[in-house]
Amino acid sequence: MLISIVVPVYNEEPNIREFRRQTSAVLEQIPDSSYELIFVDDGSADGSRKILQELAEEDRRVKYISFSRNFGKEAAMIAGFEHTAGDLVAVMDVDLQDPPEMLLEMYRILTEGDGAYDCVAARRTSREGEPVIRSFFARSFYKLINKISKTPIVDGARDFRLMTRQMVDAIISLPEYNRFSKGLFQWVGFNTYWLPYKNVERYAGTTKWSFSKLFLYSIDGFVAFSTVPLAIASVLGVVISFVAFLMGIYYILQKLIYGNPVAGYASLMVVTLMLGGIQLLAIGVLGQYLSKTYLEVKGRPRYVVKETKNFGDKDI
Ligand code: UDP
Ligand code: MG
Repeated sequence: MLISIVVPVYNEEPNIREFRRQTSAVLEQIPDSSYELIFVDDGSADGSRKILQELAEEDRRVKYISFSRNFGKEAAMIAGFEHTAGDLVAVMDVDLQDPPEMLLEMYRILTEGDGAYDCVAARRTSREGEPVIRSFFARSFYKLINKISKTPIVDGARDFRLMTRQMVDAIISLPEYNRFSKGLFQWVGFNTYWLPYKNVERYAGTTKWSFSKLFLYSIDGFVAFSTVPLAIASVLGVVISFVAFLMGIYYILQKLIYGNPVAGYASLMVVTLMLGGIQLLAIGVLGQYLSKTYLEVKGRPRYVVKETKNFGDKDI
C-alpha cells in the first residue's frame, strides 16, 4: 500500500527538515507500506526550495512541486492531490502543528474498519494559544455558516486528514477556482471519522494568517457554500417596503382625520440613511458573488508550476 503525504510549504525553512525527520520516522512504522512525501512549495521567498531540492536529491520518496509564485494553501493542496499516486492520501502542515504520530491512528482506523470510513480527520478540541478575539470571530463564523449552508462546516476541523484514493479523486474532480477546502471535504461526502486532539504550537516561525486574511477567507467560505446572503437583500426589501406602506397609510390618515401636517426632518434623515446603508450592503453582497463568478468564468489555472522533482518522466 502506498501512502502519499501532501505538504504545502510557504517560507518554512526552519521546519522542513524536522518535519521530514519526524514524519518519515512515523511512516516507517506502518508495516507493508511505502510512502511518498509530496511537498508543494507555494512560491517561497526563503531557502525552502533549496532544502526541498537537497531532500529530493537524497531520497526519491521526497518529491516536490514548486509554484511560479505564491498561490495560497488551497492551490498548494489541490496541486499536491493531483500529483499523488497513493492508495491513501494525507494532507499535513509542515510546521508540525499536525502531529505526525496521529497518522498511525488514522491509518489503523481507515484500514481496520472494513471500509466503514473513507477519511480520518483531525479536529482541535481547544483553541489554546489563540488570541481571544480571533477565537470569538472563528466561533461566530462557524455558527453562522452552519445556519446558512447545507454543507456542514465543522468547527475545529483541520485540513489534516488521511483519505482513500476514491475520496481524493472526488476532490480533484471539483473544478472550482475559489477553493474552500473545509467545505469541499464535506461536500464530497463519504464517511469521516473525527479524531480529536489538543492544539499544538508551531515548531518554528509564525503563522501566515493575519486577522484580515482570515476574515477574507471566511467570506470565501460563505460565498462558496451558501447563497443565503443573496436572498437576504430580497427579504429585507420586502420587509422594508411593507413597513413603508404601513407608514404611508398612517400619515395619510393623520392628515385626513386630524389635519396634522407631517413634520420630521430627523426621521426622514434616519430612514434615508438607513435605506442607503442597506442598499450599499446589498450591492456589496451581490458584488462578492459576482466577483467570485467572474474569477470562475475566466477559467484560469489554479496554479502555475515552475519545477517538479522525482515524478519521473513528468518532471518539469
Ligand atoms: N501555506 C501555504 N501557502 C500560503 C500560506 C501557508 O502553502 O500562502 C502553508 C504553510 O507553509 C503551512 C500551512 O500552509 O504548511 C499552514 O499555514 P500556517 O501554519 O501559517 O496556518 P495556521 O496553522 O496558523 O492555520
Ligand atoms: Mg500552522
